[in-house]
Amino acid sequence: MHNEKMIIIGAGAAGLVAAICSARLGRQVLLLEQNNKIGKKILVSGNGKCNIGNKYIALHRFHSENPVFAEEVLRGYDLPVVEKFFTSIGLELVEGKEGKMFPMSLQASSVVELLEYEAKRVGVEIVCDCAVTGIEKKEQDFTVETSQGSMTCKKLVITSGSPAAPQLGGSNAGYAFATKMGHSLIPRHPSLVQLCSDESWVKGCAGVKVAGLAKLYANGEHITEKKGDLLFTNYGISGLAILDLSREVSTRLANFDYCELSLDLIPELSKEKLTNLLLARVKKESEKPLTLWLQGILNKKLIPVILEQSKCKVCTEDALGRKELNKLVHAIKNLKLSISDTKGFKGAEVATGGIDTIEVNAQTMESKLVPNLYFAGEILDVDGDRGGFNFHFAWVSGMRVGT
Ligand SMILES: Cc1cc2nc3c(=O)[nH]c(=O)nc-3n(C[C@H](O)[C@H](O)[C@H](O)COP(=O)(O)OP(=O)(O)OC[C@H]3O[C@@H](n4cnc5c(N)ncnc54)[C@H](O)[C@@H]3O)c2cc1C
Repeated sequence: MHNEKMIIIGAGAAGLVAAICSARLGRQVLLLEQNNKIGKKILVSGNGKCNIGNKYIALHRFHSENPVFAEEVLRGYDLPVVEKFFTSIGLELVEGKEGKMFPMSLQASSVVELLEYEAKRVGVEIVCDCAVTGIEKKEQDFTVETSQGSMTCKKLVITSGSPAAPQLGGSNAGYAFATKMGHSLIPRHPSLVQLCSDESWVKGCAGVKVAGLAKLYANGEHITEKKGDLLFTNYGISGLAILDLSREVSTRLANFDYCELSLDLIPELSKEKLTNLLLARVKKESEKPLTLWLQGILNKKLIPVILEQSKCKVCTEDALGRKELNKLVHAIKNLKLSISDTKGFKGAEVATGGIDTIEVNAQTMESKLVPNLYFAGEILDVDGDRGGFNFHFAWVSGMRVGT
């Protein structure tokens, strides 16, 4: 019967897996996607390679106002379960650095194409260019309003994701549908996102990449620190260490905190080791300009900033005394960068917050408020660290809908 249909809103990571698992159980599934093709975020993920999951699934890699929910969803659904699912659709996985898992083809497109093939093979009807504009529940049936007309179903699954990356289909629509059904929302903020700064010097350093350490201070208090690439840009700063810090920055900025980064440009050398290295390099007879002398250890573009922030008073190598050298070392290991904003949802890989998971059953993903209404993926108030954790949650929560 038409009315026994399950409609799934959003053919992204969670929606595709929920559709396949549900159809495998014999349900009649209609998967609606607003974009002209499915899985657009999967396609660009992991720089086109799709970091599909992670070997080291641990609760501290996931963030939520209700960590118990995330714990229950993930219990028993570690990487082997995800791997088994992908093997079942014909996709082999390989391990990269830090436990990151990728399709063996190293092509995100193979993930999407095999998911699509399997969905169609098990009878899922996929309709693209079909934006859902509203939902309603009358007695036992849901009515789904779409750009292609009105549809009804008994079971409705909302996997429409978050507003992150609107250029790929990121949208707030699902939140509106959920709140209409009585659900509450935890505030959403961009995460895994680049940071902006008003400081004029960053533009001059655009393009410089260093393997550094970024420490985050909010209102002067040390919050956290991350090691990894720091990439200066014409709007501020990016790089893996920055993406990893960005969740904290985003939530702190929303709270009107003053956020500042302290950047250690040479973290592999302690302050003492760097001081000794520099002391050994000072030649008393040399009138070499400091700007050139510093090129022996630093990118040229960073040198004027280091000299400015260190308040170093000398200009040549021979004039460098211990005090001036200490100032330079301090600036190299504590380059200050105030943060004015993030690049917003447009630059973000994920959104924090979402549907309050207190109102969702962690075993089945069914709403505790509206029978036969389900949620999975990033629309829920669970977001993960960089490294495949966001996809892991999307696949796993999608599987739970379809079991
Ligand atoms: C650039 C980028 C790179 C990323 N790389 C990785 C990575 O390597 N590893 C990782 O773990 N995570 C990565 N992520 C995060 C990951 O893509 C998401 O966490 C994941 O896709 C969430 O899955 P989802 O199914 O909940 O939402 P999505 O995959 O976003 O799917 C939601 C779908 O719903 C559709 N939709 C929305 N509203 C409507 C509507 N009203 N009607 C119909 N359809 C609608 C959207 O168009 C979209 O296709 C990346 C994200 C981005 C933006």
